[in-house]
Amino acid sequence: MIVLGIESSCDETGVGIAELNSDGSVTLLADEVASSVDEHSRFGGVVPEIASRAHLEAIVPTMRRALDAAGISKPDVVAATIGPGLAGALLVGVAAAKAYAAAWGVPFYAINHLGGHVAVDALEHGPLPPCVALLVSGGHTSLLHVRSLGEPITELGATVDDAAGEAYDKIARLLGLGYPGGPVLDRLAQTGDRHAVTFPRGMTGPRDARHAFSFSGLKTAVARHVEQAERAGRPLSKPDVAASFQEAVADVLSLKAVRAALDTGVSTLVISGGVAANSRLRELAEERCEAAGLELRVPRPRLCTDNGAMIAALGAHLVHAGAEPSGLGAATDPALSVTVSQILG
Ligand code: ATP
Ligand code: MG
Ligand code: FE
Repeated sequence: MIVLGIESSCDETGVGIAELNSDGSVTLLADEVASSVDEHSRFGGVVPEIASRAHLEAIVPTMRRALDAAGISKPDVVAATIGPGLAGALLVGVAAAKAYAAAWGVPFYAINHLGGHVAVDALEHGPLPPCVALLVSGGHTSLLHVRSLGEPITELGATVDDAAGEAYDKIARLLGLGYPGGPVLDRLAQTGDRHAVTFPRGMTGPRDARHAFSFSGLKTAVARHVEQAERAGRPLSKPDVAASFQEAVADVLSLKAVRAALDTGVSTLVISGGVAANSRLRELAEERCEAAGLELRVPRPRLCTDNGAMIAALGAHLVHAGAEPSGLGAATDPALSVTVSQILG
């Protein structure tokens, strides 16, 4: 059974193709991504109109490349991100997915993008055991209890303000490093001293919600640090600021993720979403999981950011779990929650 997944929720046009094996495992056959990120960078963030037009241009060539790479002429199932994401961007991928499904005479599955970020790990590390997932992306920072991919996901807690990726993007803009901020700041941090500045660890006090996050105080603290240096005419070490900021983010994320896994009683922690590509988060989570006796699963960086493979992976698991196809009338939902069913009908 071959599942093709289309992703178009933000600025990546992704087409992934995965094979569902009879034992429920999933093998990746193709993973093609066309990004419009360069077209947005001079605006300091994604411009929805530009993203939609770029998807329209990229979708057919990306489909062709993925089918060629997998060596197939058509899949058995077409899946696509139905939400959350940019309304216009979602429409392009979903319209294309429905058109291909209708033309090929195969079922269509409308997939929750956020569940896809978690499910993608199965492509690399095999079927998911019951786990806690730290979903850290451009739009979300949540701790999820995932019993199985076919069951509703429980949200244990989430950020009360900025998402971690959003904080990265804002700090990168503040330091004049361009968009997206995550990869640039991560690279710059390698050359800095993470102990240079002690930035606040939001939501880690004894009275703070155990599984919630907050990054706006950190963002303000970094901005104040930069301003004070400028006002005092002190030279500012951007690598030190980057490394100290990154330490604060990775410290809180890894601490709370391990705590949530222990509270929930699962033995596996999955970290996924764009920020899971972060080198320091991966390192700290590895150390803390080992100390806590938890298995840590983090997909390779390419699978952490948006791609079609994650949609194919979740589609394949839902097909395996016996989910019914969505109708061709399924509508996009830009504000879809992770706790809603992973497939919309
Ligand atoms: P969502 O999935 O919540 O709808 P999204 O799809 O835009 O949001 P992703 O593509 O999963 O988010 O992740 C993009 C985010 O990940 C950006 O904010 C980017 O800065 C961040 N990011 C990417 N690589 C890294 C890295 N190495 N370190 C930190 N952040 C990173
Ligand atoms: Mg992106
Ligand atoms: Fe995403």
